[in-house]
Amino acid sequence: MQASTRLPPGLAIPAPVPAETLPPDTESYDVIVAGFGIAGGCAALEAARAGARVLVLERAASHGGTSSLSGGHFYLGGGTAVQQATGHQDTPEEMAAYLIATSKQPDEAKIRAYARGSVEHFGWLEALGFQFERSYFPGKAVIQPGTEGLMYTGNEKVWPFREQARPAPRGHKVPVPGDTGGTRMVMDLLRERVAEAGAEVRLETGAVALIAGQSGGVAGVAWKSFGATGHARSAAVILATGGFVMNPAMVERFTPALGSRLIALGTTYDDGLGIRLAQSAGAALDHMDEPFITAPFYPPSSLVTGLIVNKLGQRFVAEDSYHSRTAYHVLRQPGATAYLIVGSAHMAEQQMPLVPLKDGYDSIAEMEDGLGVPPGSLTATMSRYNARAAGGEDPDFGKHPDWLAPQDAGPWGVFDLSLGVALYAGFTLGGIRTSIDGEALRADGSAIAGLYAAGACASNIAQDGNGYCSGTQLGEGSFFGRRAGRHAARAAAGVRHRDE
Ligand SMILES: Cc1cc2nc3c(=O)[nH]c(=O)nc-3n(C[C@H](O)[C@H](O)[C@H](O)COP(=O)(O)OP(=O)(O)OC[C@H]3O[C@@H](n4cnc5c(N)ncnc54)[C@H](O)[C@@H]3O)c2cc1C
Repeated sequence: MQASTRLPPGLAIPAPVPAETLPPDTESYDVIVAGFGIAGGCAALEAARAGARVLVLERAASHGGTSSLSGGHFYLGGGTAVQQATGHQDTPEEMAAYLIATSKQPDEAKIRAYARGSVEHFGWLEALGFQFERSYFPGKAVIQPGTEGLMYTGNEKVWPFREQARPAPRGHKVPVPGDTGGTRMVMDLLRERVAEAGAEVRLETGAVALIAGQSGGVAGVAWKSFGATGHARSAAVILATGGFVMNPAMVERFTPALGSRLIALGTTYDDGLGIRLAQSAGAALDHMDEPFITAPFYPPSSLVTGLIVNKLGQRFVAEDSYHSRTAYHVLRQPGATAYLIVGSAHMAEQQMPLVPLKDGYDSIAEMEDGLGVPPGSLTATMSRYNARAAGGEDPDFGKHPDWLAPQDAGPWGVFDLSLGVALYAGFTLGGIRTSIDGEALRADGSAIAGLYAAGACASNIAQDGNGYCSGTQLGEGSFFGRRAGRHAARAAAGVRHRDE
C-alpha cells in the first residue's frame, strides 16, 4: 500500500491504517460502501439482497449526492419496454456496436455486458418503484422537457456512427418534468429499498482512509463524523464517492480545462477523495484527463440546421452531433472560438438559454467583418454548405439530411459558442481502473483484494466528451454498482466461510 502525505492537500493520498493496529473489538461488516449516490445505493442494495451485512457511509447529511441533482437520463437499450412501446427496434448487439464505435478505448467486455444486461437492468430500476413513461420525444433537446420516456441522447444518428450501428434512441428519462433533479425520485426509492434490505446507513460520516489487510488487500475503512473518528472492518469496501470536479488541485492536475471559464457541475463532496483512497491501495486510474464539457446550442432545434465555423471561417464538426461532441471540438479550435450561423428562415426563435446571440448581419461580407474571420472565408464555406444542403448532402461532415437546410437567406443571426462567452459546464469522467465486476485494479491488471469502485469515481464506459451520450453516467453507475455489490457480497461470503 502507498502512503504519502507530502502532496498538496487536494492531491494528498491518505495513508492506510494497518489492520493489526486496530483493537480486537473493532466493529465489523461484510461490505462497506462509501457514498450513497446512484452507484453506492445500487451496490449496497445488491450486496444486502445477496445476504451481506452492509454498512453505507455517506459524508453528506442526506443520501443522493450529485445523482440527486441530475436530470434523470439512463442510457439503456437492446429492446427495453419503452423502445418497444414506441416502435424503436434495438438489440444488445447494435447497442454494443454503437458504444464500441464511439468509445475512445472501448472495453469490449464491459460494453457487451452492459448492452446484454440492459433490458434486465431497466426492469430492475423500474422495480425500485417507478415506471419510465412509454413515450418518445422526437426533437433535439438536452433532455426531454416533459416526462417523455425516450429520446436520442447521443451520436447514434451522427456520421460515421449511423453507418456502424443501426441508430436507436436510448436516453430513458425518469418521469419527472424539467432539466434537473429528476433522479432524486430514484434516489428516494433506492433509500427505501436499501433500508428494507437491512443495510445500515450512517449519514454525515465519511471514509477518510482504508484499512490495509495483512495480505496486501483492503480490510475496512477509517471514518470521520464531525469530531468523532473510528474504524470499521469489512471483507470488502466499495468506493462510490463520485467524481473530482470540486477539487481544484485535482482539476488543475488532470483536467485543467474544467478549471477555466465554465461551471463545475457537481456537489461539494465531488473532491476525488475516493479516487485518492484507491490510489493508497495501489489502484491504477484511467481517463483522468478527459472531462465532459458542454454548451448545448439547442433548443430550439431549428438552429441545428445552421452551420458552425471557427475563427478561420471553417466548419469543423457536424452540427447535429450530441452537444458534448460539438463542445469537444469547439475547445480544440483556435482560441476555443466558434460561431453558429443561422439564416432568417430558421431564426423563428432568436434566443437560447446558454448561448448568446452575438449579432445579426445583412450580408456575408458584413458578417466576416463583424466576426473578424478572414475575408472571403465565410463566403466560400457557406456557398459550399448551402449548395450541398439543398441536395440533402453534406460530403464534408456527413450531417444527417434531417438537419440539412441551406442558410442562404439573410439577415443571418450569429450565436457565439466560444468558451468564456457561451455558458459551458462540465464534470469529470476518469477514475479508478476496475474489472467488469467493479474490482479495483492495479496497473498490472491484478485485482486488489477487498477493494471495489463504481460510479463517477471509477472508469467504465464514459471515457470522453467526444463519445459521451447522456445517461451513461447514471446507467453505468447503477449497472456496474450492482455488479460490484454482488461480487463483493460473494467475496465476503467466501471470507466468512474460510474464517468459520
Ligand atoms: C446537473 C446535472 C445533470 C446530470 N444529468 C445526468 C443525466 O441525466 N444522466 C447521467 O447519466 N448523468 C447525469 N449527470 C452526471 C451524474 O449525475 C453523475 O455522474 C452521477 O450521478 C454520479 O453518481 P455517483 O453515484 O458516482 O456519485 P454521487 O451521486 O455524487 O454520489 C457520491 C456520494 O458519495 C459521497 N461521498 C463522497 N466522498 C465520500 C467519502 N469519503 N465517504 C463517504 N461518502 C462520500 C458524496 O457525498 C455523495 O453522496 C448529471 C450531473 C449534473 C450535475
